[in-house]
Parts: sequence; C-alpha cells; structure tokens
Amino acid sequence: NTLRLWSAQATQAFDLSIFNAGDYAQAVRAQTFAENISKVLYPEDSTPQGKELRLQQQYFFVACSLRDFIDGQGPDFDLHDLPERVIFQLNDTHPVIAVPELMRILIDERGFEWEDAWAVTSKCFAYTCHTLLPEALEVWSVDLLGRLLPRHLEIIYKINEEFLDLVRETWPDDYLRMGRMSIIAEYPERGVRMAFLATVAGIKVNGVAALHSQLLRDKVLNDFAELWPDKFTNVTNGVTPRRFMKLANPDLSNLITDAIGSGWVTDLERLQELAPLAEDPEFRAAFAKAKQANKIRLRDRLRVRDGIELPTDQMLDVMVKRLHEYKRQTLKLLHIVSLYEQIVSGKVKASEVTPRSFVFGAKAAPGYRMAKQIIHLINAVGASVNNEPLVEGRLKVFFPANYNVTLAERLIPAADLSEQISLAGMEASGTGNMKFALNGALTIGTDDGANVEIRELVGDDNFFLFGMDEPKVAELGARGYQPGEYYESNPQLKATLDLIASGHFSGGDPMTFEPVVSNLVHHDRFMALADFGSYIEAQQRVDALYSDPEAWTRSAILNVARCGFFSSDRSMKDYIKRIWNTPPAL
Ligand SMILES: *Cc1c(COP(=O)(O)O)cnc(C)c1O
Repeated sequence: NTLRLWSAQATQAFDLSIFNAGDYAQAVRAQTFAENISKVLYPEDSTPQGKELRLQQQYFFVACSLRDFIDGQGPDFDLHDLPERVIFQLNDTHPVIAVPELMRILIDERGFEWEDAWAVTSKCFAYTCHTLLPEALEVWSVDLLGRLLPRHLEIIYKINEEFLDLVRETWPDDYLRMGRMSIIAEYPERGVRMAFLATVAGIKVNGVAALHSQLLRDKVLNDFAELWPDKFTNVTNGVTPRRFMKLANPDLSNLITDAIGSGWVTDLERLQELAPLAEDPEFRAAFAKAKQANKIRLRDRLRVRDGIELPTDQMLDVMVKRLHEYKRQTLKLLHIVSLYEQIVSGKVKASEVTPRSFVFGAKAAPGYRMAKQIIHLINAVGASVNNEPLVEGRLKVFFPANYNVTLAERLIPAADLSEQISLAGMEASGTGNMKFALNGALTIGTDDGANVEIRELVGDDNFFLFGMDEPKVAELGARGYQPGEYYESNPQLKATLDLIASGHFSGGDPMTFEPVVSNLVHHDRFMALADFGSYIEAQQRVDALYSDPEAWTRSAILNVARCGFFSSDRSMKDYIKRIWNTPPAL
C-alpha cells in the first residue's frame, strides 16, 4: 500500500525585497502561514482561529489526496469510470469535504455536467462513523465555509437541494423530517452537517461495532436508515496481532506457537485451538509465567522511563485510553478512593483488601479543561495513596505521562484487569478492549461498544459485566437523572466524594477539585454515580476470582482463545465484502 504524509509549503517561500527592506517577519509570512496548515494534527479548536486552521487542514489533506489519486490514473483515463477504480473510505467526518472537492474537480476542471459528476461522486465514497457523541459529529459554520471554500459551499447547497427533493417525494409535506434531515442545520447557527453530507454521498455507511451500528440506524441517522435501509452496515473494528501480540508479547506468542503452530499470526481464529489447554495445569502455569515476565518487563520500563517502582506481586489493574468524561476515568478513581477511604477510616482492615496496582494512561485534548482537572485529581490521589503507610502493600496508583503506543505495547501484555467502563451507548467500539483480551487480561466493563461482542465470545463467566445497558441509560435520561440522589443514598459513595471535596488530596484546599466534584454531584452527564454501586459489586467479583489463581488463569486463556474475531485482518475482509466489493489482494 501507498501511505502518503502531506506537508504544506509556500509556493513563494521568502520575499527577498521585503527582507532587504528590514521587515523580517513579513518576509517569511507566506511560508509560516503555509507550514502552520500541516504542523500539528487536530489543532486546538476552541478559538475561531483554531477552527479555521482545522478546516484549512482538512481541505488541504483531502485536496492533495484526491489530486494525487486522479493524476495517478494517467491522462487518458476516463473519469466516468472512476467508481470502478476506487472507493474513498471517509474515515470519520474529517475528510468529508472531499465530496464537494471531487464534484468541483469533475465539473469545473473536467467539464462534467452536474448529473454525471454526481453519478460518479455518489459511487466513489463510503462513510465510517466513529462516534455517538453529538458534539463529535462536525458541523462547519456556513460563515466560515463560505469564506474559505465558497465554491464548495455552493456545491453542498446544490447537493442538499436535490437530496431534499428526494425527501419531499418520499414523505410529502413532512416538513419536520425535512428540517431534521437537511445537510444544512439552521440552529444554533447555519452550519453544514458533515455526517449527513457523508451519508447522502456515501454508497455505504458503517459503524464500528454491532451495538454502535445499530444505534446509528435506530437513533443518530434513523431518518436516513428509513430512506436507504440497505446503505447501512457494520464492520466491527479489529487490532493487528502482529503489533499487539507478536511484537508486544513475545513470551505469550512463543507459548501459543509452541502449542498450536505459527498460523494464528495471520489467521487469528486459530487461537480457538488454545481453548482445551485452559484445562491443562501445565499450560496454565506457562501462561501465568509469561504474564509474570511481562509485569517484570513493565516494571523495568517504568523504572527507567518514569522513576516509578511498580509492584509485580499483585493484581495489575489498568485503565489506558484518551481522557474523556464518557470513558469515565472518574468512576475508576472513585473505586480507588473508596478503597483508600475505607482503610484509612478504619471501616475495613487493609489485610482484607486485595492488593492492586492501578495504572492510568491518558492524554487530554488541549482545550478540554475538565479532562485536565481529572488528570490533576488522579495524580493527586496517587500522591496520597502511594505515601500512606496505612495502605502500604495494598494499593498503588500510577499515572505515567505521555501514554502512547510504545507504552501500550508494554502495559497491555502485563495487565491482569482491563477497565472498559464507558457509559453504555457512548463508546463506538474501543480497540484497547480487544488488545487486552487478546493478551490475557480479563475485562471489567459495561455493555458498550465492542465489549458487547467480547462478552458474547468469551462468555459471561469470563467477563465482569456491570452497570446499566443502553436502553436503561436512555430511560434514566428521559426520566431526568438526579446524580445527587445516588450521592445521598449510598454512604460509601458519599464518603468517597466528601473525602475529595474536603481537600484531603489537595493540601487541605477544598477549591482545587471542587469543579470535578460538583460536576459529578450536580450534572454527571455520563452517569458515573448511577453505575458506582454496580461497579463496586463487580470489583468484588474480580477480587473473588483473583483469589483463585488457577481459575483466573483459566479465564484469561479462554479470553485469548475466543477473541480471534478481533483481528484487523477480519475487519479488512469485512470492508472488502460489505463495502468495497473488490477481490482481496491476498
Ligand atoms: C489502542 C489505543 C487506544 C484506543 O484505546 P481505547 O481503549 O479503545 O479507547 C488509544 N491510545 C493508544 C496509545 C492505543 O494503543
């Protein structure tokens, strides 16, 4: 495959006459402006300047890629045949400006009539949606789009006009539906709904896990699914076993290859052949030994990388993923603070608590203030817990900085417990969940994203399910969720939140984490408090199984054996069969 990395350069890098006149900043202005376009990925977009830069960047990458592909077909290629050569898979809403860009190229540069250009364009794109959060589905203000890309806006208006004609024909006089389905939003300002544009232009629309695709059909894009039921499909995400098993976990990989041969590396369903070995005490011992070796490898890396001393003789409980309120790092933190509070206050003897090391890894988007406060709180709790003699030997909390793939490759193979605790209906798929299961961690998780499929495959006995499912979440939301009721009625939850609110983790200053606490008690958009009780109960089931190492290891082996479905090879085959309609190259 060809992978291109575009970089923006000025056509005129430097103005010598302005330089010689002494205005050195002005002399490099054009160069600086151009280079900013591809300097950083996902520039912060809370300011108007940031929003503009993002749109410039999206258009730049898309325009380069389309031009590159079309030029690559040679001067004699008839662009009417483009759909036979290519499908541009729109990976989220970020590249959707490619739709009007292709229309523009065909009409303005190649002399196509509108109808012919649309006949080609509407067969050249397919759209993968990656989210269920409404704020993550981009809407570009008509104001900005019209200023930066006026011709594209004009083309979008015309696409919308023709699309709304179809809606009107299908549902005459249904003006509410027309307003709901229009590519142009009218509130809170006029804007282009990029997900709708992609859905109208795309030959197929897919979500990235079974539950996510179902929610797209039934909720987010329901009107479109009624209009075009066959357009909607699912491709559950996958991860590559070459990086996330063979490279990241050589001990486990060698053990698997010794047991069933090396075919699993390119045919991951063959991991099923491991299932009978879960009953073999010798294999279990070898499996547990590989896990232990991975903990030591992780300890050594963290010692050098972060100056951390990770215990290797206790449960390793890991939550690594982007910092976002919907993923609920705060729920994990409430569990930890609750254990700490019960020991320090004398409600529970330290010796009765299963020793665990908790490891967080996460980055926050630069403009996401609440996420940064949550990072601050995790670190503050870590500082208290790690220095409290009363919990010594029982609890440790680490938050190594700069969580990235390189660290993931060490952390995931060492983990015992994988935290996948998003509010049901919020995590499109997750891929971290797959990496952990394939490396022999057990999952504690909600009925969300690909967790649903993991649990179906590994079985209820080998998965710690907790919390509300999506219909329950919707019902509670409709009833009017009052997090304060959970705070008042659960003494353990109240003591936990009160300890944070008291300033215990902030040198006695109750204001430091007041925004985090009051957000939870008064708003809690992602219903962490509603799931707290169920989560604590599930963690007790974790402790119970962990106290029986043979049973735990048996479950871990079954997780590996039953998760071959989550290979990215299988995902690619699904894209080929369900969307691209092309013969596989291999
Ligand atoms: C896999 C991976 C993710 C995605 O994790 P989720 O738990 O699915 O959100 C994020 N960051 C890194 C570094 C990863 O390797």
